[in-house]
Amino acid sequence: LYQVRFAPSPTGWLHVGGARTALINYLTARKYGGKFFLRIEDTDQQRSTEESITRIIEALDWLGLHYDGEIIYQSRRFDRHRQVALELIEKGQAYHCFCSPQELEQKRETARQNKENRSYDRACLHLSPQKIDQNLKAGKPFSVRLKNEAGSIEFTDLIRGSVVVEADLMDDFIILRPDGTPVYQLSVVVDDHDMGINLVLRGEDHLTNSTKQILLYQAMGWPVPQFGHLSLILGADKKRLSKRHGAASVQEFRDLGILPQALNNYLGLLGWSPRDEQEIYTMDEMSAAFDLERLHRSSAVFDEKKLLWLNGKHLAKITWPQLRPSLVKRLRERGLELNGLEGSLMSFMELFRVRVSTISEWLQQTDLFIDDPVIYTESGVSKYFQPEGTATLFGEYLNNLDLIFGRVEWNDREIEKQVREFATAKGLAAGKLIHPLRLALVGKTESPGIFELMSVLGKEKVVRRIEKALPYMQH
Ligand code: GLU
Repeated sequence: LYQVRFAPSPTGWLHVGGARTALINYLTARKYGGKFFLRIEDTDQQRSTEESITRIIEALDWLGLHYDGEIIYQSRRFDRHRQVALELIEKGQAYHCFCSPQELEQKRETARQNKENRSYDRACLHLSPQKIDQNLKAGKPFSVRLKNEAGSIEFTDLIRGSVVVEADLMDDFIILRPDGTPVYQLSVVVDDHDMGINLVLRGEDHLTNSTKQILLYQAMGWPVPQFGHLSLILGADKKRLSKRHGAASVQEFRDLGILPQALNNYLGLLGWSPRDEQEIYTMDEMSAAFDLERLHRSSAVFDEKKLLWLNGKHLAKITWPQLRPSLVKRLRERGLELNGLEGSLMSFMELFRVRVSTISEWLQQTDLFIDDPVIYTESGVSKYFQPEGTATLFGEYLNNLDLIFGRVEWNDREIEKQVREFATAKGLAAGKLIHPLRLALVGKTESPGIFELMSVLGKEKVVRRIEKALPYMQH
């Protein structure tokens, strides 16, 4: 069983890179039956904000990446982190460092000149117990340093395989600052240990942190979890994906009309390769197919086109109850209610389902249902409204429509029949009628099938829209 976690630092929106890390952890817990925890790493009190915490939680919620248990806030565990630092001193694995900032700067400078790897000369490691006592009694500020005597560290990364790091080159790094606050590395290790985390899956950018953290586990005599470092997500220019490349946060993609299931699907495939060719996954399918052994080693380029394509595939599967709330919201923004429109609007929206790639684009089509066109595409006007006699033709068409649909039902089959029979009677190809008709009804030269469109718009709207278009047609 894997106990995994997602541990974002709340300093902004949830970036897609973070969302992918969360997703991979979530899938791991679901696939292998473990637990997925959320820990907010709000230790950097300057950069962490409440607002960002809310945004991250909202984004995870929207994605459906539900975590187990309570959220752990790292900043509330400072006492515990501090206690571990002091415990390390007792164990002889860490020591008090009383060097002042000026002294440290000097030591760094000397190390630079002598081309030493370590910038701290370990002066305080050699203080006598009496001296330490004396300093403490005098209230001299101190930090706590980890005694790093590891030589080299080797671990097997779940994704990268064997990793060897010359820990020798690393300083006896500080784990507790003079003001008593723990450093990030210490907090992460203590929290991961206390939470029972046995697999740490996070971005490749944390590789050096992992080395330091392993030193801390070893110093405490705690079992070291397994590590897996996910490859980075890059923009088209092969640089790490960021705002410069356009949308980068989960909320931005949501606002662009991307469905959560499509974003999950896309990010999942950016992290791991399924065994077969399947590309469209629901969350359940993805949890079942997911495989920790098939996580990508090399970085992946974020491809927005592919995301849009996947989104279209997921749109095709959305049900009316899933779409309804967003539609209600959209109508309310215009002061309208779905009541009374439900049936016809649903049929109308259905016509567009396969013609759009985002939810927002889809929802925008409601305008086409509600508003009669006021602008007609220019190229359409010259091609379909300008030929002489168009207005006369449509005047007659309206009379015919009135005549026929007094007797027969208004549906796509009958509408088609009427259009074709009218065209034949006039000695015209049906297209001569259909193209201007489309332009009159939606103001554009493209639309879903015209007869179905007319059917769902209803006779009243159709007649009204044709009448409104007449002045733009030539007699
Ligand atoms: N808080 C870190 C971040 O947001 C992640 C730390 C971790 O996963 O261990 O990048």
